[in-house]
Amino acid sequence: MSEVHFKVAIIGGGPAGIGAAVGLAKRGVGPIVLIERRGEVGGTPMGYRKKPGGVPTFVEWTRGRVVFGEELAGRLTKRLAQTSTTIRLNTQVTKIYPAEKRLTLLGPDGFEDIVADAVVLAAGAREQTPAEKGWLAGSRTARVGFTRHVTGWLDRHGLLPARKPIVVGSDLIAYSAAAKLCALGSDEPVMIDRRRSPEASFFERLFFRRWTRPDWSGGVSTVEIKGHGSPTHLESSNGQEWQGDGVIICGQLVPNTELALMAGMAVDLPSRQLQLAQGQALSQPGWFAAGNVLGGFHGAQWCYFNGCSVARSVARFL
Ligand SMILES: Cc1cc2nc3c(=O)[nH]c(=O)nc-3n(C[C@H](O)[C@H](O)[C@H](O)COP(=O)(O)OP(=O)(O)OC[C@H]3O[C@@H](n4cnc5c(N)ncnc54)[C@H](O)[C@@H]3O)c2cc1C
Repeated sequence: MSEVHFKVAIIGGGPAGIGAAVGLAKRGVGPIVLIERRGEVGGTPMGYRKKPGGVPTFVEWTRGRVVFGEELAGRLTKRLAQTSTTIRLNTQVTKIYPAEKRLTLLGPDGFEDIVADAVVLAAGAREQTPAEKGWLAGSRTARVGFTRHVTGWLDRHGLLPARKPIVVGSDLIAYSAAAKLCALGSDEPVMIDRRRSPEASFFERLFFRRWTRPDWSGGVSTVEIKGHGSPTHLESSNGQEWQGDGVIICGQLVPNTELALMAGMAVDLPSRQLQLAQGQALSQPGWFAAGNVLGGFHGAQWCYFNGCSVARSVARFL
């Protein structure tokens, strides 16, 4: 059976993937296919729904304001709709073959292979598992979750996962989770970290003060979650205790580079950072990357523009 051929295949329909599609369309490159495993494009920001009394956490630098993720993603999605990009939703790229630039997709109709002249990896990043945090022991009972779970419970379903939350971590995402919990009626969260001072910058903390002023404990050593069925408190190895009925863990973000790793492309371990040949080009000719899959933590609008800029390199390669 002959494989469907595209000029460019984009893996991931978040801000970076959308930026790449828009940038390529502006340069007259086509046909382009964008593959997204979820049922809608927009990526991570799409999960941050707009609602009255909610907490907007996405900076839209070009408009100089902070908006809900859904609003920002909605605007980017409209730009994508103005291009003739083929969008494959509910379709996951399960395998890549770097030399042939072939991708195996699993979609609503089963497996299918496609080929392209160039491929853009825009699969984003995710929070590490709790074990990888390295200093948080104890069982992961009910009411122990990542910030991304909490966002789902709060933003999508309006469910408050804890009345007395304990937030483990102190970066921007930790403050954003704390603010959302308070906005929905929780007590002021306890926030603990190994660092002596919070990871979020002074200005980021200032922004969230409208909703939350967490009860901060810095410089903690190893910590264990205590409680059967659901957490009752956290205990540190040097005898400190924090009471709470829910634990929200802020994992480090790691790039989603498993596909590249499995295909034997150059990826650094344990950071899982893609090794770049030049600019946003990967070690394998014709392969490029954009957005948070490149590592580091970048806002959604930055990722969109980063996607737009990879289009220049892709067009030059083609
Ligand atoms: C937990 C979390 C919370 C965040 N909170 C904020 C915040 O409050 N404010 C802020 O400004 N930024 C926040 N960010 C960062 C922001 O979401 C990112 O900067 C931006 O979404 C990155 O864009 P991206 O396109 O690189 O990745 P993403 O938006 O993650 O998009 C990647 C897309 O690729 C798809 N995908 C992945 N693998 C495959 C595959 N194999 N096949 C098909 N599709 C695939 C995913 O489903 C996803 O839609 C947060 C990020 C995370 C992870």
